Amino acid sequence: MEKIKMTTPLVEMDGDEMTRILWKMIKEDLILPFVDLKTEYYDLGLEHRNETNDQVTVDSANATKKYKVAVKCATITPNAARVKEYDLKEMWKSPNGTIRAILDGTVFRAPIVVKGIEPCVKNWKKPITIARHAYGDVYKGTEMKIPGKGKVELVYTAEDGTQTKELVHEFKDAGIVQGMHNLNGSIASFARSCFNYALDVKQDLWFATKDTISKKYDHTFKDIFQDIFDAEYKEKFDETGITYFYTLIDDAVARVMKSEGGYIWACKNYDGDVMSDMISSAFGSLAMMTSVLVSPDGYYEYEAAHGTVQRHYYKHLKGEETSTNSVATIFAWSGALRKRGELDGNKELMEFAERLEKATIDTIEAGEMTKDLALITTLENPKVLNSEEFIKAIASRLA
Ligand code: NAP
Ligand code: MG
Repeated sequence: MEKIKMTTPLVEMDGDEMTRILWKMIKEDLILPFVDLKTEYYDLGLEHRNETNDQVTVDSANATKKYKVAVKCATITPNAARVKEYDLKEMWKSPNGTIRAILDGTVFRAPIVVKGIEPCVKNWKKPITIARHAYGDVYKGTEMKIPGKGKVELVYTAEDGTQTKELVHEFKDAGIVQGMHNLNGSIASFARSCFNYALDVKQDLWFATKDTISKKYDHTFKDIFQDIFDAEYKEKFDETGITYFYTLIDDAVARVMKSEGGYIWACKNYDGDVMSDMISSAFGSLAMMTSVLVSPDGYYEYEAAHGTVQRHYYKHLKGEETSTNSVATIFAWSGALRKRGELDGNKELMEFAERLEKATIDTIEAGEMTKDLALITTLENPKVLNSEEFIKAIASRLA
């Protein structure tokens, strides 16, 4: 069989621990036998980040600007324990944070839906994708404890020195206060990423805030979305047959529960943080959740939503058998290959991505799965495979 040719490379960002082990197996068994793979390889494993003073992370993000499509393995975000474990020169920043700061954009997370792994919410038939705004609000907030009687005000000092004030509260007694902000530019690029992604996957877009209570702050989000939609996207949405729908956050939550899924739910930073955990656990498993960073300039970085699965890695190092779910990492590869194919007009590559996903889903639906899924499946007598056997089972279907 002749291998599928690629014209432009993908940016490949290797990572850490158990997902690094899976990464190699996925490439060897599921991709290299079928695709004449072209990648520009960046080793984001913690040792190499440390050796390069984290320059490799910055280089990989810049390469993504050049080639437009990247696939990333999960990576360790160092904490004090990791600094010791890996004898690090510094507590390097989160690679995802660094990449996001360079590319800008929005993270979209969608569950991979298979028969036999049923969502807790009975009427959810199709995936619900969460788009989380990744800038500002309480994540960049300033807080104060107010010890007692006194006045708290918001003060804006313009460059020419003129001041605008707004009373927050006349405290009669002790209390707390919080100041937060967002930027029109950031909200606008969030909106554009969401509209572009909706067109890309041909799904409706929902957006919700608390604009009835927050008449300036949340209302600005609503207005910016609407203005950009009307000016730049309305026609394209009509042509594609999808809709943009704004509602109050309370109403959105109630409708989500009663819906059958199949749309994108754009969330402000805090709402997205909370709701994505609810959606992923209600759909079954973090190991069945894909994640893609979409920049307003049209760069795409695909990854799994979960981490490096450290506990399984330590078992693996001790020579014990692991049954780690590789589905989200496989879908990161298929997502990146499909997008590469789309941008290059490479139909064969797009079809391969489709076949890879189908073989993965068919394997699980045939009852062959890793332990995490076997524990929650409604299929009877699932066959529990180890990490390698599961990938080999997909490979044999793919061949
Ligand atoms: P994790 O790697 O997501 O794993 C947490 C637990 O969830 C695992 O111990 C395992 O449970 C289960 N799990 C997650 N993915 C699984 C899979 N593919 N197959 C089977 N079970 C799976 O999170 P963590 O252990 O908190 O974090 C480990 C490292 O990952 C940290 O250093 C963190 O910085 C990093 N991290 C990276 C990213 C990223 O690069 N995007 C995201 C999150 C975390 P059991 O042990 O019960 O089987
Ligand atoms: Mg969270």
